[in-house]
Amino acid sequence: MMGRFTCFIRQLPIKWKLMLGATTLIFLLFATYNFSQYLVLKQWMMNQEKDKIQVSMSQLQDYLNEKSNTLDAVLIAEVRPYIEKLIGKNQLVRIIGQNGEPLLTVSNHFDENWVAPRAVSEPELYDITPQEDHILIYRSPFKTEKFVGTLEFASNLETFDHFSQTLFWVMLIGGVLAVFISAISGLAIARQLMRPIRALAATIRSVKEKGLTERVNNIENGDELSSLAQLFNELMNQLEVSFRQQKQFVEDASHELRTPITILEGHLSLLNRWGKSDPEVLNESLQASLQETRRLKGIVEELLTLTRVETHLVTEISEPIPIEPVILETLKRFEALNPDFEFQVNTVKISNVLIAISALHMEQILLIVLDNAVKYTLQDKRISIEGLRLTNEVQITIEDHGIGIPQVELPYVFDRFYRVDKARNREIAGTGLGLSIAKQFVHKYQGEITIRSKENEGTKVIINLPINQIIN
Ligand code: ADP
Repeated sequence: MMGRFTCFIRQLPIKWKLMLGATTLIFLLFATYNFSQYLVLKQWMMNQEKDKIQVSMSQLQDYLNEKSNTLDAVLIAEVRPYIEKLIGKNQLVRIIGQNGEPLLTVSNHFDENWVAPRAVSEPELYDITPQEDHILIYRSPFKTEKFVGTLEFASNLETFDHFSQTLFWVMLIGGVLAVFISAISGLAIARQLMRPIRALAATIRSVKEKGLTERVNNIENGDELSSLAQLFNELMNQLEVSFRQQKQFVEDASHELRTPITILEGHLSLLNRWGKSDPEVLNESLQASLQETRRLKGIVEELLTLTRVETHLVTEISEPIPIEPVILETLKRFEALNPDFEFQVNTVKISNVLIAISALHMEQILLIVLDNAVKYTLQDKRISIEGLRLTNEVQITIEDHGIGIPQVELPYVFDRFYRVDKARNREIAGTGLGLSIAKQFVHKYQGEITIRSKENEGTKVIINLPINQIIN
């Protein structure tokens, strides 16, 4: 039974849970508070009534004591008017003889039959509830020289009962009303609270059904719940962007891979048809096929490098290394491969700088930029490499005097597979991936890479990297 109840509560929407919780709490609070207040008030009023009856009793006793010497039938008749004045509505006073016989009975709106006369030797005060009524009785022995008997006071607590009943109802109705109001307002508040969550849930559902473009609308700014919705929207934006990039990447990659494969296929079918007998076709096609295969291999390798840099976005912390030797070492090997170029190096300013970068990655970045400088230079074969120390970073500039990049193309050279003017570049081997790989590497180490260029004048690639340490 209990288990089923908790199960039922657990399945309720949060809105109802909040409402039920608040209402139960309010109800308990109100019930205990009201009930104890009711009891205390009732007790207090009862004491008040008892006091009253006791005061009246002692007044009567005093009065009778004054006349005590002659308390007999004549006096008793005289006492009556006094008692009549003394008692209030719904009260009864009796003077009772030694044997319990009533000597005098005065009542005001009080049925004598409700209380039977009785002689007592000790005072007694108690209340009884015959049928509908509630009667307070006070008996006290009374003794003088000539008289031995009992004084009896009875009071019908009709007004008192009426009052306490009214009080009870007022409190009950007040309590019920309060619980009702708290339930309704609790529900309203809960509904208000749940609105952003409902919107979020609805959006998640429609993202599931319709795709990544759905967002939570009408976020009222303010509380934690709306910032949750905001967060969700931002997350979805990021997801959408990276999803689109991923898709673009796959499209670009397939497109780039298709060209060499198509060329390869052409040559192979040429070989298949004529090549077996014609040594000239055989030779030419084999050469071309080899070249395309190499190109394919290059693209695939660069793609692999790119995805590797991208997926390891969280930097494995590299040891700080002196940067100058890496640059000089790389240059020395590169110079050997390009004897027709003249390299001017100036890196003394960064000779005491340590940078937290993997030497291999630094070398890769430099090679990509140097390779471009060589590839896109036709006549003025001078290349300069300069290292500068800025406040918290080094700046490595590689400058060539080659064909340059048109101003309009500059923003795109870091895009994957982007090659400036494919016609111009047809003669020069390349995949359009080099600079995007370099950029990924530099970003991985919290650096920045920028290009300045003028067509037919030359290009300047500027690499900034944060300094980790300086040695003296
Ligand atoms: P690629 O494999 O084509 O060299 P990159 O991403 O390295 O790919 O370069 C993108 C494009 O930017 C190149 O196709 C080239 O047109 C242009 N570019 C890069 N570096 C230079 C440079 N030093 N001089 C002139 N153009 C350059």
